[in-house]
Parts: sequence; structure tokens; C-alpha cells
Amino acid sequence: SAIAEEGGAVIVRCAGGDVHACDRMILTVPLPLLREIALPAGARAKLAAVDDIGFGNVIKILLRFARPWWRERKEDLADMTFLLSDEAIPVWWTRYPDQHPVLTGWFGGPRTAELESLDARALIDAGLGSLAAIFGLPRDHIARELVASAATNWAHDPFARGAYSWATPRTRAAQAILARGDGSVLFSGEALYRGRDMGTVEAALASGLETADMILRGQ
Ligand SMILES: Cc1cc2nc3c(=O)[nH]c(=O)nc-3n(C[C@H](O)[C@H](O)[C@H](O)COP(=O)(O)OP(=O)(O)OC[C@H]3O[C@@H](n4cnc5c(N)ncnc54)[C@H](O)[C@@H]3O)c2cc1C
Repeated sequence: SAIAEEGGAVIVRCAGGDVHACDRMILTVPLPLLREIALPAGARAKLAAVDDIGFGNVIKILLRFARPWWRERKEDLADMTFLLSDEAIPVWWTRYPDQHPVLTGWFGGPRTAELESLDARALIDAGLGSLAAIFGLPRDHIARELVASAATNWAHDPFARGAYSWATPRTRAAQAILARGDGSVLFSGEALYRGRDMGTVEAALASGLETADMILRGQ
């Protein structure tokens, strides 16, 4: 919850009361959470740059069925991977070439705010409704085959507050400010990656390695 410079050390105070001391630290929380942590003045001054990095949301729905009903329905869907539609939950993918009867629903971007009020159960219902409309089947036919389900609106996750970042025309300049090696608190994570694919695990790892390397080289 708070990071402070005290007597030449960096002190990290946790919400549960733990206190840790170190020489320097790397902060890798998602962008929306950066402003919720008390920071030393030098690190806080860099935070205005966060506004120039895009950060979006994703809703993800996982449905496991008793049978791969979509494969049985039409032979030409046997090797279906991605399915794009205009339904409330617009994007779906299978596990192909794995044969597990699982469909994953995905909805990303600003319009996820329209589903803000839906909890996991209601998101799963919305997913079943979308599949029924896409395949022209009664909703009950699909719901009967459902054996397990989960849904997450990542904006509701208190430690994520959304899904991943994206670059705006001002993002490279913002990243250069946030990734500077000065001060006791260094920023890292997928949003700070200056290569092509922000918003990925690879980006997070590359950014972390770059920052750690900067510390080891004494910069
Ligand atoms: C639905 C979804 C699907 C994705 N699919 C893919 C994919 O297929 N391939 C891919 O490469 N990437 C994917 N990503 C993106 C990938 O997950 C992220 O880019 C990556 O996890 C970012 O790593 P990070 O270390 O920067 O941040 P995170 O993984 O978000 O880690 C930040 C950590 O900070 C912690 N934290 C937050 N607040 C605090 C606090 N106050 N104190 C201490 N800790 C805190 C969080 O709990 C979290 O563990 C997906 C993301 C989502 C949401």
C-alpha cells in the first residue's frame, strides 16, 4: 500500500502490516493500480505519463460441455478455431486441435462497460444466449450440455482493474519517462515494454529483465 524512502533505504509497507526494506524496488502492478500506492515524490512525479498509455478491459467466459455439440451439428465446423459474431459476447474459440468440448468467449474494449453490472452467473447466461443466437439453436439445448463454467470481468478484479495495455501515439514517450532508471522505485511490466507486442507475458518478462539488468549495471 505504500513505498517510502527512509534513512537511505526503501521501505515497503503492506496493507496487512508487514514492512520490508530494500535498496531499490521494481513496481510491476497493472497501470490502474499505480496511483493507489503511496510513492516517494520522485516516482510519483512520473505517474502523469500513465495517462498516455492505453489500458483496456476483457471479459472472458469458459464453458465446458458434455459433448462438442457444435462439431456434431455441422461437419464443416469440425476444425473450427475462432468464431466472430455481432452477439453480446462476440468472439469464441475452441480448443482445436485438442478435442475437449470447451468454448471460450471473449469480449474486449470500451463496450465491455455495457456489461458492467453482470456478475459471473449473468455473464455465463449472456454467453449461452450468444451461442444460441449464433448457431440458431434453442438456448436450453445448449444449456443442457453445460457441465462447468466460469466467467471473469477483469475490470472487477481488484488486483488487475482491467486486462492489458495498448499503445497510443504518445505511449513511447510515456514509457521512456516511466522506464527511466533514476530513483529508488523503478517501474516495469507489460505496459512498459517498448517492443511490438505490449499486453503479453513475453512483454512483461522482457520489461522485467531490462529493469533488473539496469539495476545490476548500477544505472
Ligand atoms: C483475459 C486475459 C487473457 C490474456 N491472454 C494472454 C495470452 O494469451 N498471451 C499473453 O501473452 N498474454 C495474455 N494476457 C496478458 C498477460 O496476462 C499480461 O500481459 C501479463 O500478465 C502482464 O504481466 P505483468 O507482470 O506486467 O502484470 P500482472 O500479471 O498483472 O501482474 C501484476 C501483479 O501485481 C499484483 N498487484 C496488484 N496490486 C498490487 C499491490 N497493491 N501490491 C502488491 N501486488 C499487487 C497483482 O496481483 C499481479 O499479480 C491476457 C490477459 C488477460 C486479462
